[in-house]
Amino acid sequence: MNLSKEHITALAAERDLSTSELMSLLQAEGLDSLLFSAADKVRRQIYGDAVYVRGLIEFTNCCKNNCYYCGIRRDNQSATRYRLEQDDILACCAEGYELGFRTFVLQGGEDSYYTDAKICGIVSAIRNRFPDCAITLSIGERPKDSYQAYFDAGANRYLLRHETADPAHYRKLHPEAMSLQNRKECLFHLKEIGYQVGSGFMVGSPYQTLDNLVADLRFLQQLQPDMIGIGPYIPHNETPFSKFERGSLSLTLRLIAVLRLMFPYALIPATTALGTIHPQGRELGLQAGANVVMPNLSPVKVRKLYELYENKICTGEEAAQCRGCLERRVESAGYQIVTSIGNVKKPNS
Ligand code: SF4
Repeated sequence: MNLSKEHITALAAERDLSTSELMSLLQAEGLDSLLFSAADKVRRQIYGDAVYVRGLIEFTNCCKNNCYYCGIRRDNQSATRYRLEQDDILACCAEGYELGFRTFVLQGGEDSYYTDAKICGIVSAIRNRFPDCAITLSIGERPKDSYQAYFDAGANRYLLRHETADPAHYRKLHPEAMSLQNRKECLFHLKEIGYQVGSGFMVGSPYQTLDNLVADLRFLQQLQPDMIGIGPYIPHNETPFSKFERGSLSLTLRLIAVLRLMFPYALIPATTALGTIHPQGRELGLQAGANVVMPNLSPVKVRKLYELYENKICTGEEAAQCRGCLERRVESAGYQIVTSIGNVKKPNS
């Protein structure tokens, strides 16, 4: 048995690998089918063939930040900005509920128009009208008190990708005004409050090294998130990084499998970004260990405007079409869509 095969066996037995072992595994070409089948086995032991759906509502593309990689960054003057009001958001939830969704993900830029009072109002309105649903927020860095207020209003889950855990790499991707330390602190605050927490990172972002990716895995080991979202970096024309190459499909898939083995209980989405770089990207992501899909519930008229990266797929279909398309894709990959609330199955949770 060669070294990387041994590493797969060790990870599947929940043994930790050294940094150099992880790096050689991430580079091991020719072992993908072995790695993916080990990840699939672990996922089936815990989640069977279930794939959970989360209805994504992209409710604002306004953002005060200027991350160098992001298509809706503040300095992109060519972006047409929009905001959805509470009634629009509730209408998206109602449509999603009819389609069987029991998790709503409210995602947006860091937009101070949505004050704590506004967010709490939106969350409690969803909570009252759809008491059997999970409410996930993904609205960036906010003070701990604000996170607490949203939780008290009825939010249960929070997604905040750390994007890169390495301080030097973080600085290459973000302007001085932003802080990796603050981002990490936010994640620990969310955990302390009691949210189910999701984090994650881009694969193949500009200047990223394999060492950086291992640092991402190490940070996740420290955080022990319930959800881990990763996707390939995809450039956007109106950003300082427009000339960089996009992240690779094979490395993203390998990382999904490694994450499944390192975090057997994690909820891992097969992301839209994966589907954007390859026609079967999401199916391949599921077969590498992912177990969540996030169809878009945003009104079709604003879909194209939430353009974090270029050529994003699924911007023209109505929610029902999206749901049907994903159901067929999930089945073709060998899994079943489940419309339950889909909480994490961590031991003792
Ligand atoms: S990545 Fe997030 S925080 Fe950064 S500019 Fe884009 S929406 Fe804003």
